[in-house]
Amino acid sequence: TSLQRNIRSSAEIRRPNGITVLVTGAAGFIGSHVSLALKSRGDGVVGVDNFDNYYGRALKKTRRDLLEFHGVYVVNGDVNDPRLLSMLFETVEFTHVMHLAAQVGVQYAVENPYAYVRSNIASLVTLLEQCKSSDPQPAIVWASSGSVYGAQNKVPFSETDRVDPPTTLYASTKRTGEEITHTYNRLHGLSITGLRFFTVYGPWGRPDMAYFSFIRNILHGKPITMYRAKNRVDLAREFIYIDDIVKGCVASLDTSGKSIGSSGSKNESAPYRIFNLGNGSPVTVPALVTILEENLKMKVEKDVVDMCENGDDSFAYVNISLAERELGFKPTTDLQTGLREFVKWYLWYYGKPLVENRNV
Ligand code: NAD
Repeated sequence: TSLQRNIRSSAEIRRPNGITVLVTGAAGFIGSHVSLALKSRGDGVVGVDNFDNYYGRALKKTRRDLLEFHGVYVVNGDVNDPRLLSMLFETVEFTHVMHLAAQVGVQYAVENPYAYVRSNIASLVTLLEQCKSSDPQPAIVWASSGSVYGAQNKVPFSETDRVDPPTTLYASTKRTGEEITHTYNRLHGLSITGLRFFTVYGPWGRPDMAYFSFIRNILHGKPITMYRAKNRVDLAREFIYIDDIVKGCVASLDTSGKSIGSSGSKNESAPYRIFNLGNGSPVTVPALVTILEENLKMKVEKDVVDMCENGDDSFAYVNISLAERELGFKPTTDLQTGLREFVKWYLWYYGKPLVENRNV
């Protein structure tokens, strides 16, 4: 069919010993950047995304158009659809899966808990079932989250820490994902790498994230809302620039090893790995706002309100030495530079404050 022709042509490899990757969540923020990076170095890349409406579809469709311009085809479909997955794996022999599709956001879970169960747990199992029975089995790299470290964890967070019960349903589905992938690794010899991303920002970023809405409000002369944590200590977050995260994803893929056990035979030595991918230097929200004021050369009006009961007031500070050692991971973009790049993109994409006219 023409769909399969598009998929095959997108999966074409342009370098010897290249790899073929199925990227889920390819129309998303991180997925679109990773897909482009892999394609541009000559890997075969096929994307899949269900274009969920969580922060609107317009930005996802534009990212998809950009990917298709660069030769990456994005199938409009759901990871939780086993027939779609089996069609994809019958059409292309994927060596790797980069699983970035998820229901993201924290507050949204209060009203929509099952969206998280479906896209972060059920979809993961559907994907693992497909990978388990594929021959050869692809190596899997997937996005967990820094939020799996609970509010009471000691800092800086290390991969070997025992983690507290999660404080949000989103975090809870990611934690569950880690356990499920570990089980598939043990039972079926799948090569698994889970990446605990901390707050990722940059061009083509997510409009639901705080830094994005801060910048949007500032450019429109509107006040920003800053949340005061329940314990009244300034919130601090780990911000990591998208290009740095992309390098971490690509290095994870390149070191994941292909689990080559043919169907039926378990590959006992397939790795199960977890890496923190953050900056290693937390920034408080007031410090972030000061950087924005300097960057935009504007004074910002602030509304400070108390964090609601379901709010995520965790403090993040991450130890990245494992990723440094094993992946050669080394974030190089500081917050000033990264935010400048974001603002440049924002003004290019939305035009000078006309954002109300765009569906973001
Ligand atoms: P995003 O929402 O921009 O991308 C996720 C994409 O997955 C979206 O385009 C969405 O339409 C798609 N999707 C959701 N459910 C799907 C399903 N069932 N089938 C097919 N497609 C589906 O978010 P992002 O920021 O690019 O995040 C990518 C991954 O990284 C996610 O797994 C997220 O949980 C994780 N993560 C992100 C951050 C961050 O700061 N951005 C931090 C920690 C973890």
